[in-house]
Amino acid sequence: MGENYKLSQRVKNLKPSPTLATDAKAKLLKCQGVDIINFSVGEPDFDTPQHIKEAAYDAIRNGFTKYTAVDGIPELKKAIIQKFREDTGLDYKPTEVMVSTGGKQCLYNIFQAIVDDGDEVIIPVPYWVSYPPIVELAGGMPVYLPSEPENGFALDIDKLKSLINYRTKAIILNSPSNPTGMVYSAEELMEIAKIAIENKIFIVTDDIYDAIRFDGKGFENPLSVLPESRDWVIMVNGVSKTCAMTGWRIGFMGGPEQVVKACSKIQSQSTSNPNSIAQKAALAGLTGPKDFIFVMCGEFKNRRDYILKRLNAIEGLKIPVPQGAFYAFVDVSSYFGKSFENLKISDSLIMSDYLLEKGNIAVVAGAAFGDDRFIRFSYATSMKNIEAGMDRFEKAIKELR
Ligand SMILES: *Cc1c(COP(=O)(O)O)cnc(C)c1O
Repeated sequence: MGENYKLSQRVKNLKPSPTLATDAKAKLLKCQGVDIINFSVGEPDFDTPQHIKEAAYDAIRNGFTKYTAVDGIPELKKAIIQKFREDTGLDYKPTEVMVSTGGKQCLYNIFQAIVDDGDEVIIPVPYWVSYPPIVELAGGMPVYLPSEPENGFALDIDKLKSLINYRTKAIILNSPSNPTGMVYSAEELMEIAKIAIENKIFIVTDDIYDAIRFDGKGFENPLSVLPESRDWVIMVNGVSKTCAMTGWRIGFMGGPEQVVKACSKIQSQSTSNPNSIAQKAALAGLTGPKDFIFVMCGEFKNRRDYILKRLNAIEGLKIPVPQGAFYAFVDVSSYFGKSFENLKISDSLIMSDYLLEKGNIAVVAGAAFGDDRFIRFSYATSMKNIEAGMDRFEKAIKELR
């Protein structure tokens, strides 16, 4: 009690996840009896499909409750290899794939494995909140590559080239993107893949939303457009989003054997194997029926269309049409400088606080994703909530003078 501990510099420099912080604030208000509509959640609102749960019950009944191989059980790795084959047309060896406790831990392991102090990692903006801290925890330096909503947050290839130097270790790609819902074109992926080969830098592709797309086209990543980039691509994926399994904590990666082995070594000295029961469940998710994914995507698409219709009817907002994931990233900067009573809205954080306290809706400030002009709505909530939430949003934003 009262002790003032000297914590590590590492943890002092670390910022807590801002999306989880917003969620906590919203939950606190809810506890106090305030009726909050939550647009800040980053997980599907669908239940984990029954056949996946059954596989977990079976695993427990059969006593599959002990340590497994650090890098995942062979049958799950086999299913992952099959998925990678479908996604990219490439054959991966078991030593080139591994399973971790979520896609997030895959990313953590990867940057611990490839980055030394002072190495640079290029992160396109807007980015998923955890990329910069994960790079920094490995001693690396995030280098930001801005993009603009006017051209669909396309990657600025010339700018990318100008950022590459002898310290550049990797670039992170996330398509479909959290927070924008944007999908990179085959041409962009081709360019990036060529740049990676030429400059010997890794492309870490975060494909976690691969199956949640509304464009009707096949999934593409650098490997599917340019298989020759294989030596430089590390794929990250998982079952959290596409199988509605966020709580089960299973993610996986595929990449060059040396990198994967290094990640496995790190995992062996930190978390060891991912949960044995969840691995069996993930196996059922990957190999079982896929119809629930289509149902889920169809529902997300309806919600996206509705939310876009509502937002586009409000003056001064700009919303690039999301092609995947379950987020709408909305430019609210034309409202900056306006006020409600004594509160002046000058940035995305104040805007999100205002929307929470006055509008009783929870959204995430764009600042968390590196672009302060925006706020992020997650539409992983019921249509009923979205309808009521859009009414509240419209009312709150129109009250700004
Ligand atoms: C949800 C998410 C992840 C990883 O989630 P896990 O639950 O750790 O598998 C990774 N990247 C992005 C962009 C996400 O939104």
